[in-house]
Amino acid sequence: MFDINEIRSKFPFFKYNSNIVYLDSSATSLKPQVVLDKMNEYYTKYSVNVHRGVYKLGYIATEEYEKVRSKVAKFINCEENEVIFTSSTTDGLNKLAIMYSDFLDSGDEVLTTELEHHSSLLPWMNVCKRKNVKLSYIPLNEEGRITVENFKKVMNPKVKVVVITYVSNVLGYITPLKEIIRIAHNYNAIVVVDAAQAVSHMRVDVKDLDCDFLAFSGHKMFGPTGVGVLFGKAKLLKKLNPAFFGGDMNDLVTKESVEVKDIAYRFEAGTPMIGEVIGLGKAIDFILELGYENIEKHLKELHRYLLEKIKDVEGIEIYNKNADVAILSFNIKGIHPHDAVTCYDDLNICLRAGHHCAQLVTRWLDCIGTLRASLQIYNDYHDIDRFVEATKETVRIFTKLEGGF
Ligand code: PMP
Repeated sequence: MFDINEIRSKFPFFKYNSNIVYLDSSATSLKPQVVLDKMNEYYTKYSVNVHRGVYKLGYIATEEYEKVRSKVAKFINCEENEVIFTSSTTDGLNKLAIMYSDFLDSGDEVLTTELEHHSSLLPWMNVCKRKNVKLSYIPLNEEGRITVENFKKVMNPKVKVVVITYVSNVLGYITPLKEIIRIAHNYNAIVVVDAAQAVSHMRVDVKDLDCDFLAFSGHKMFGPTGVGVLFGKAKLLKKLNPAFFGGDMNDLVTKESVEVKDIAYRFEAGTPMIGEVIGLGKAIDFILELGYENIEKHLKELHRYLLEKIKDVEGIEIYNKNADVAILSFNIKGIHPHDAVTCYDDLNICLRAGHHCAQLVTRWLDCIGTLRASLQIYNDYHDIDRFVEATKETVRIFTKLEGGF
């Protein structure tokens, strides 16, 4: 088990916000000092461009940047040329949808789910409109989960792309991806995975999953904002026409034509987010040093404690009592989540309120939005106790204002 005080001491956030209970890690995680130090090292000691300068510092920067590509490849179990650096999950998924749209035609189908974050859903909705492709949905089961059984009911030979989340950012369910991917491949469809919420909770292994594309962001896994990864199988990446053209992605350029570089460089036009990629490398080290086993154990234990403490609080409705990761979505009955969240803020508790950029989920839940508490390794029992007390206090305040439920 973690020494929680030691963990918290690694995050400078708590030095400046000692009284804050941060329960919004699904929106973005806090950043450990080692990540900030590593970025600072780049920005202060060798902040020159990569892949260009034929001088010593240029080589150092390039080496640091490319070291992260191999680190990411090991982290998700793929080849280095299958790792494209992007600015975020949103960026990666949009680029992919644009590039892959070349392979879609009228009469094809893209299959997705109501659990998708807008970053996963909307790029394909846009492509489907432009290419006259049908967008259809795997029905969720009664608990709101994506199941293999329901997937089988709607999978059909017209489906060319399955767009699917690994972990729901609202309900915290893990999708049974392996079996879904196996079936999709039997129909010759490709599978695009949104792993934005997965990487900070569990080991992601693209070879084991056998997914075709997968995207995630650095900032949800203790890394900096402004950096993400798009993984693609090499054989598929080689077929794609880059979405963006510009410096550094090309070899020979003539008046008429351009020869693009090998994958993955051809998908990284222009000066990349060098300091952020280097910071991401440190975030990966940080996670691996902690160990996924320890992270999962800590979060499972805290999640269990949270559910135990919150279940008897009167006046709340919980939407995901059986979540697989430490995310709690709930409402205070009869109260708009944005009203409720201001009470939590008064008590120095950071929660997220609203539709969490996943409006189809909240519509499925038949509510305007939810309150969401999402935990990370730096949270402890004391945080949960304060959250539960704040929930009771919020219920009390609104009960008084509303004259009871
Ligand atoms: N997918 C999921 C499941 C998410 O939770 C998020 C972030 N909330 C995203 C995609 C988008 O990530 P980003 O904003 O870093 O692009």
